[in-house]
Amino acid sequence: MDTRLIPLSALQHYVFCPRQCALIHNEQVWADNFLTAQGIQLHDRVDHGEPETRKGIRYERGVAVAAPTLGLTGKLDLLEYNKKRHCYIPVEYKRGRPKIDDCDTIQLCAQALCIEEMTSASVTTGALWYWQTRKRCEVAIDDALRHKTLTTIAGVKQLLLAGKTPKTKWCSACKACSLVELCYPKLLSRDKTNRYLSALFAMGDDE
Ligand code: SF4
Repeated sequence: MDTRLIPLSALQHYVFCPRQCALIHNEQVWADNFLTAQGIQLHDRVDHGEPETRKGIRYERGVAVAAPTLGLTGKLDLLEYNKKRHCYIPVEYKRGRPKIDDCDTIQLCAQALCIEEMTSASVTTGALWYWQTRKRCEVAIDDALRHKTLTTIAGVKQLLLAGKTPKTKWCSACKACSLVELCYPKLLSRDKTNRYLSALFAMGDDE
């Protein structure tokens, strides 16, 4: 049985593109573009602050989590703990603005599930803080989001355990993908190019 813990970031990569997820987490392929470099810088900044308590709320930054039952591990940008109400709120910092897909909320919900497994407390709310809009968005960790997140975790586990990287296919996500240069979706998805490459290698075999 494979007992590898899946990094929380893999969930977001999987929702963005399963091929990207497999390239990064199974094949260790990584390339920064302007967007990922900015994201890393932001996380470095928020992960390294000192813990503090203000108005009964404890703020812990860069909190490591591991939830073997869920099969997840990772680091939270910020974890707020309300001492009086004994409640936790995970906060994830994002470089851009709120997205139309669920990748940010699924990652946040997975963090909440990790906290629940580690503390036995119930986490009902999380928050996403967007750098571009300078806005904090509260997110309800409700049944629908929990279901989507658990389905995504199962999908990622299946993908990574199978050890097979899905084939490249050009999609709208490719335009913002940091791996586009390495993945070459446009080039490889063209039949003509495949035919050309096959012919080229066949020629090489004859030599
Ligand atoms: S370039 Fe496109 S197909 Fe390739 S990993 Fe990125 S999003 Fe996925």
